[in-house]
Amino acid sequence: MPITDPDKKYIAAHSLLYVNICRKCGARNPLNNKKCRNCRSSSLRPKKREIGK
Ligand SMILES: [Zn+2]
Repeated sequence: MPITDPDKKYIAAHSLLYVNICRKCGARNPLNNKKCRNCRSSSLRPKKREIGK
């Protein structure tokens, strides 16, 4: 079921896409984290953002 409400779509996309991914273990971390909460690695990358493709 597609999401038609733009506000809800924005919230969903934001919570899904605006995270950091640990390069070592793949855990999701908050954007403002400098280190992975799972393995303490500092090798984090932002999740790729492509909305509405
Ligand atoms: Zn990690």
